[in-house]
Amino acid sequence: MTDAPAMDFGERPDTLEAIGVAIQACRRCPIGDLENRAVMGEGPRDAPLMIVGEQPGDQEDVQGRPFVGPAGQVLDAHLRAAGIERSDAYLTNAVKHFKFVRRGKRRLHQTPTAREIDICRWWIEGERAIVRPRLVLALGASAARGLLGRTVGIAKARGTPHALEDGSELWVTAHPSYLLRLDGADRAEQEGLFAADLSAVAARLAELVA
Ligand code: SF4
Repeated sequence: MTDAPAMDFGERPDTLEAIGVAIQACRRCPIGDLENRAVMGEGPRDAPLMIVGEQPGDQEDVQGRPFVGPAGQVLDAHLRAAGIERSDAYLTNAVKHFKFVRRGKRRLHQTPTAREIDICRWWIEGERAIVRPRLVLALGASAARGLLGRTVGIAKARGTPHALEDGSELWVTAHPSYLLRLDGADRAEQEGLFAADLSAVAARLAELVA
């Protein structure tokens, strides 16, 4: 397990709109130098639930919105099944720019390094400070690192709350893009675990906002 100190880059914008502008100009890590644009989170300013993915994918980068590609469609279906309204949640990513390698006309996803996630954590901490969600759901290991500043295994971390320093709860599950890479019995098993995680989050959220 790797512990990373939270980085301090000085004064941070104190509105979501200002963060959305500032991340476009951010070049604190090399991902911002690729041919991409930063994708800001979206959702209610006072959402009780924040959902955090790894980074924008190709479609998110094209459209400038989080979770609008294939993985977003998987997430949407599971949110509906769990009784969570997507429009009630604030959706964002641990890393704001799309990291990719070009292969012909295609842009292939590249996993951000721990250091890149730790640098970009500055921005998600800014979003959390403004939205102040009661519950944060991290989708995948990169998102979990972006919230905790250390690496955790999904199998060990899922299914139970982790206390964050501001009193909110972090829940961890797989990233929906992981489900898309599976098929057959493996896919069915992981879909079941993902559904169970989202049901647990929905139940806990109902308790927290009651
Ligand atoms: S990925 Fe994050 S830290 Fe890196 S340049 Fe973009 S906004 Fe800045």
